[in-house]
Parts: sequence; structure tokens; C-alpha cells
Amino acid sequence: MTTLTPILSANWDRPESFTLADYRAEGGYESLRTALGMDPDELVDLVKTAGLRGRGGAGFPTGMKWGFLPKDNPKPRYLVVNADESEPGTCKDVPLMLANPHVLLEGVAITCYAIRSHQAFIYVRGEVLHVIRRLRQAVAEAYEAGLFGTNILGSGFDLEVVVHAGAGAYICGEETALLDSLEGYRGQPRLKPPFPAVAGLYASPTVVNNVESISSVPSIVSGGADWFTAMGTEKSPGFGLFSLSGHVSRPGQYEAPLGVTLRELLDMAGGVREGHELKFWTPGGSSTPILTADHLDTPLDFEAIGAAGSMLGTRALQIFDDTTCVVRAVLRWIEFYAHESCGKCTPCREGNFWMVQVLERLEHGRGTEADLEKLLDICDNLLGRSFCALGDGATSPVTSSISYFRQEYIDHFEQGGCPFDPTKSTVWG
Ligand code: NAD
Ligand code: SF4
Repeated sequence: MTTLTPILSANWDRPESFTLADYRAEGGYESLRTALGMDPDELVDLVKTAGLRGRGGAGFPTGMKWGFLPKDNPKPRYLVVNADESEPGTCKDVPLMLANPHVLLEGVAITCYAIRSHQAFIYVRGEVLHVIRRLRQAVAEAYEAGLFGTNILGSGFDLEVVVHAGAGAYICGEETALLDSLEGYRGQPRLKPPFPAVAGLYASPTVVNNVESISSVPSIVSGGADWFTAMGTEKSPGFGLFSLSGHVSRPGQYEAPLGVTLRELLDMAGGVREGHELKFWTPGGSSTPILTADHLDTPLDFEAIGAAGSMLGTRALQIFDDTTCVVRAVLRWIEFYAHESCGKCTPCREGNFWMVQVLERLEHGRGTEADLEKLLDICDNLLGRSFCALGDGATSPVTSSISYFRQEYIDHFEQGGCPFDPTKSTVWG
């Protein structure tokens, strides 16, 4: 039985957990002191050996990404923290930054030292003003304490950190759109390659990492690679925040080793709401194909969830019970993608618009069998043909729901309307 591993969330229940004094009282910034006494390349090797994989969704090895920065490029290097959390169901970075902003800031300083960068930006989603305020307050505290600025902790290392507020567009979480937005342009994805590691912010070598990835670095420095790899699985080591939402008795953040199962997490969270059964769930937000009760014992790691036909993504576990209409849920998600599509490429801009029309017809009992084929055909023209991951991700709920719940789609048009009572579902009612 897997148990929780509160590391990033260890102090969240303390009223002053967000202050520098509280963080330091628990040994905060000692990892930075250790790191500044190491060779930067040694730190990159440490994170590589620990096998930390990006916690923003894609799971790309963090140390490897740092290692991609070209050694012979004389331009300044940048660290950009992607704090533009916006994936439906994803809600881990916001509480982390609110309750423990200094673990992120310590991670920023260690990472910048490791990659030889003297300028970091934290790009925060524009809607979360309370988080922006909290981070700016923490950054000011860190400057005042000599943890940012010139000659950090007497090491001779200089670092400037800026908290930048986005304007509230989902696409600005895509790393290259984020960089365009940070440069002052309209946030739209760039062609990759070149990857940001080679030509990122202001065409300079740039590391873009998620909040939780960077926040995990101080514990790797203090605990060591063996400590980190002792948790999780061989290919998905370490711990992560699992966000349970929807029809669950005690929704919230559950920090556990990768490879924990949904059944174990639900046991800790009091189960699916009383009197109901699990119907479907997302392993990592709406861009990851839905799974069903048959996958309750699938380990939540990159490999096992991939083998089950989905993706681990952001570990945003949205739980839907037997009161939920899957067609309505998918319609709601696709409305989101249609709204957030940046419009740069035709498959995504047009495809999501048309999927909303077809799904609306189906949900209201006016669809036909041909509409199901039309949806799958649109997905076929989106997946792998869109310019960025937003278009690909939009196909996930559609194709997976038709694969598991085709009959429920058919019931809608056979019965001339939705067979579910929306007032019974706390999620969609
Ligand atoms: P990706 O696999 O294209 O890239 C992952 C990271 O690895 C990027 O930083 C990329 O620059 C780097 N990378 C990959 N190959 C590289 C190479 N050859 N050289 C240098 N760097 C390389 O994935 P992505 O498009 O960045 O992200 C997609 C994921 O984002 C999805 O899986 C989804 O789960 C997640 N997502 C998260 C949110 C959120 O709110 N956190 C929102 C939407 C999507
Ligand atoms: Fe924009 Fe969608 Fe194309 Fe991405 S896939 S570039 S969000 S239109």
C-alpha cells in the first residue's frame, strides 16, 4: 500500500508557511547554500541521475533539458518558469505557489546556478492575482535576505528574478507561445525545432520548466539522487502532486510517489462520493484520454498510464461518477478548446468549432450515427496535423469517450435527448 510523501506540501497546513522565516525555520535555502558550493555541471548531473521528469505534463527529463543548452553560445541564458497552469482539472501549481512560494524560488536560484543563467522569469497565469501578489512578496523577501541579487550568500553568483503576469490565455502555457507573450507579442506557438534550449527567449538559450519541476530540485539537492529514485518507479522516479477533483469525498492535493494507483488515492480521499460508482476519470487533465473503473489499479506513472492508452499529464485526476453524462462532459471540454484555440492553424481553429456543433447536436438528442463518424474524422484531421499540442489534446476526450461509451452517445439520439438528469451531478448540474 503506497502512502503519502509530503515533501513539497509538508508545511501547507501551517498558517505562515508562505513566509521566508517559516521556510528557513524548516531548513529552507540550505539546499541553495549546498548547491552554490558545487560545480554547476555536477548539479546538472545530479538532476539527470535522479531522473526527474518534467511535472508540467510531458514528462521530459529535466536534467537532459538543462544539458541541451549549447556550450558555445555567447548569448545570455534564461530560466523561464512556466506557472501558466490552465489545463482543465489541473490545480497543483497554484496551491504550491500560494502555500510554499520559497521552495519554488529556492529551486529557481539552484537551477539558474546549474545552467549558468543570471536572469529568471516566472510567468504566472494572469487570472490568479493572489498568486502573483504572493510570489512578488516572496521574491522581495528573498532579495532583502540576499538570496537573490548580487553575490548570493557570498558566493559571487548574481541572479535577477522577475514575476511576470500573463493575460489569461490557455495557449500561453505552451512554452513557445509563453516566450512570445513574455517578449510582448501575441502569444502563439512557434515552430519547433529550434527548441527553447537552443533559441528561446530573445532567441537566446532558454530553459522552460514547470513550477513543480523546479520546486522539486531543492529536495533532490538535499536528499540526493538515491533518495529520490527510491520513490516512484524505475522510469518515473520520485514523487508528485496528484490533484483529485470532482465526485470525490475529500478533493484536494495528495502528494505521493509516482506509480500510486487511483484506487489507493481514492482510499485516502474517502472514495467516490457516497452512494455512487466511478464512471470515468482523467489521469492528467482533459488533454489526456479518459479512463474507466477498469483502470483503478493502473499505476500512475508515465509508462503504465501510456500502456493503458492515456497519458499521465499533469496528474489532474478528475473523477466522474455514474450521474455524469459523458457527452455533456466532452462537450464542455471541447467548448474550452474551441474558445482557447489561438487560431494559428486550420485543423484546430476549424476542427474544434465543428466538434462543438456536432457534440451539441448529439447531447440534445438531434444527432445521428453519422455524427459519431464525423467526430472521429475531425479528430483524425486534428491529431498530428495541428501546429501544437492544444489541437492534439482536444481529440483525447472525444476519441476515448466514443471508444468507452459509444452506446451512451447512441442512447442520446435514440431517446431524443440526454438520458441524464443534470441536477443530480454536482459537477455539471
Ligand atoms: P513536448 O513533449 O513537445 O516537450 C516537452 C519539453 O521537452 C519541452 O520543454 C521541449 O522544449 C522539450 N524538448 C522536447 N524535445 C526536445 C529536444 N529534442 N531538444 C530540446 N528540448 C526538447 O511537450 P509540450 O508540447 O511542451 O507539452 C505538452 C504537455 O503539456 C501535454 O502532455 C500536457 O499534459 C501538458 N499541458 C499542461 C498544461 C498545464 O496547465 N500544466 C496545459 C496544457 C498541456
Ligand atoms: Fe493555435 Fe490550436 Fe494550432 Fe496550437 S493547434 S497553434 S492552439 S490553432
